Amino acid sequence: MSQSYQPRSSLLPYGQQWLDEADIESVIDVLRSDFLTQGPAIQAFEQKVANYVGAKYGVAFTNGTAALHGACFAAGIGAGDEVVTTPLTFLASSNCVLYQGGTPIFCDINMETYNIDPLQLERKITPSTKAIIAVDFSGQPAEMDEISRIAHKHGLVVIEDAAHSLGAEYEGRKVGTWADMTMFSFHPVKHVTTGEGGVIVTDDEGFYRKLIQFRSHGMTRDPKEMTRNDGPWYYEMQALGYNYRMTDIQAALGVSQMDKLDQFVSRRREIVEIYNKNLSNIPGLVLPYQHPKANSSWHLYVVRFLPEFSEDNRKKIFDKLRALNIGVNVHYIPVYLQPYYEELGYQKGLCPNAESYYETTITLPLFPKMTDDDAWYVISAIKALSNKSEVQSSYATTSE
Ligand SMILES: *Cc1c(COP(=O)(O)O)cnc(C)c1O
Repeated sequence: MSQSYQPRSSLLPYGQQWLDEADIESVIDVLRSDFLTQGPAIQAFEQKVANYVGAKYGVAFTNGTAALHGACFAAGIGAGDEVVTTPLTFLASSNCVLYQGGTPIFCDINMETYNIDPLQLERKITPSTKAIIAVDFSGQPAEMDEISRIAHKHGLVVIEDAAHSLGAEYEGRKVGTWADMTMFSFHPVKHVTTGEGGVIVTDDEGFYRKLIQFRSHGMTRDPKEMTRNDGPWYYEMQALGYNYRMTDIQAALGVSQMDKLDQFVSRRREIVEIYNKNLSNIPGLVLPYQHPKANSSWHLYVVRFLPEFSEDNRKKIFDKLRALNIGVNVHYIPVYLQPYYEELGYQKGLCPNAESYYETTITLPLFPKMTDDDAWYVISAIKALSNKSEVQSSYATTSE
């Protein structure tokens, strides 16, 4: 076995982009063209993402967080409105509600899927609830059939934070048309990248128009939408929007990267297979659960360490893996445990499942450019940390 416990000389990150010459050419073409922003690459990118997921409209933003902000605006979220979301997510999923003056209400996760628990969701709905923001944690779609049913019953808008799940399916249908508005992020750790970028896809023309206005100062140049018309130069601001426009430089990278999405997702699934096969049956190690209706696109591979695994707690295991140059991470700190949220009045104990998840998990490296050997290095390191010696000795035979 070449993978000894000798630390690698360089860090194996938990995620990383994969660019090729076609991507670089695509960006250079824009740099030589007349438009650096608001040119043809934006529409091409928006259409490519919308077509891929089967949605009618796509609206590009500077980043996924701005896109979520746009979705909250389009959904009409304002002061006094409550929005139910999961605590097990990146800050942006609930910060976007705060940007609009709304109140995030955290609903606990299901301990198998790590997604928002539909069985607890309905209890969080009050007369002030306006929307649900579901997050497809790790790339596995949330239970969108159940969530949509509950939302419909209570007249709520559903926003899906699909930053992790571009290319994933639920009941055989791509993520992107389950919710009223779905957000994809194009940060370099996500499935395909534009450097920074986000897109909202929707089938609803009303939402589409609001999103377009919001990303450009709340302004319109369409005479049909104006309340008056001072002349051909006239533009009209109808709401408080922002400058959240993506550049054509970024969009061109996205157009080229989208060609590789399916290939990237299959490679992620291959690495997950290697992890699943070779990390199974280790006492105290809980591998990701796969919901029967969901086909994850695997943004993250998260494992839980229970006391049977070893005397080491999660922190110690984490430190030992980092010492071997494995770029492990923890996703995520429950949002409401952040000091800013605590100041708003949220308290420890609110979502016990999310808190216990947070105490015990580690995210292993997973990205398409990773080699099988990289995966083996991680597997051997974890087996060596397990206190079951028979597991360690089986390592030599299984890793050939
Ligand atoms: C990455 C991410 C975002 C934000 O996307 P940016 O493009 O980085 O602004 C939002 N939600 C989740 C769950 C994410 O992982």
